[in-house]
Amino acid sequence: MMLKSFLNLVLPPICPLCAQYAEDERFCQRCFDSIKIIKNPICLCCGAPFISEENEDHLCGICIKKRRPFSHARSIGIYEGVLLDAIHRFKYNGKTSLAKPLGRIMTDEFLANNYDLIVPVPLHKTRLTERGFNQSLFLAREIATIYNLPIDYLNLKRIRPTDPQINLRGADRIANVRGAFAVEKAAVFKDKKILLIDDVYTTGATVTECSKILKKAGAKDVSILTLARVVNL
Ligand SMILES: [Zn+2]
Ligand SMILES: [Zn+2]
Repeated sequence: MMLKSFLNLVLPPICPLCAQYAEDERFCQRCFDSIKIIKNPICLCCGAPFISEENEDHLCGICIKKRRPFSHARSIGIYEGVLLDAIHRFKYNGKTSLAKPLGRIMTDEFLANNYDLIVPVPLHKTRLTERGFNQSLFLAREIATIYNLPIDYLNLKRIRPTDPQINLRGADRIANVRGAFAVEKAAVFKDKKILLIDDVYTTGATVTECSKILKKAGAKDVSILTLARVVNL
């Protein structure tokens, strides 16, 4: 027993994905390198990546036509391969130890020091009971800890259960989340620059609905950070 705790102490940390040597709480370099990090050029507003690598950032067709309730949405990586596997294991197989390395990718790749409050996208209590934890809250906690920012996970609520967005098409996704969220104490969000955290950005319907509600509650600004993004290039 003593030997075991001694070994735990002196053995270098291992990558939670491939069990090879890794630095501190991160994935090993090989696993990290196989994640497709989203790079410029992207849409200045919704963060959608563009195919051409030469252009500068600009607004995408959707953001030109329609004003979004959030200022910026940014995602760290494309939702595929190693990142998709890791999120699935984290979210659906209850491997909550992945929150740390996944959160570290977010804090390494995104500068989050310009916000007043971190807010995770909430789960409905039925889903929370099923899963046992809110994956977005776990990621949000990592960001709040690293950037030393306050977090609020009690006052934005999902008041109606919704179907997983991944199974739905565009218009159905918007209908699916309409009226699904509510704010408990609006004072918490008043005049705040909020960074809203979710695990995956699909069409943005969920974060758009949350942003609307937060703005209505008096938030000065809402920006979005998600770990991954569904990209159909
Ligand atoms: Zn690895
Ligand atoms: Zn856009």
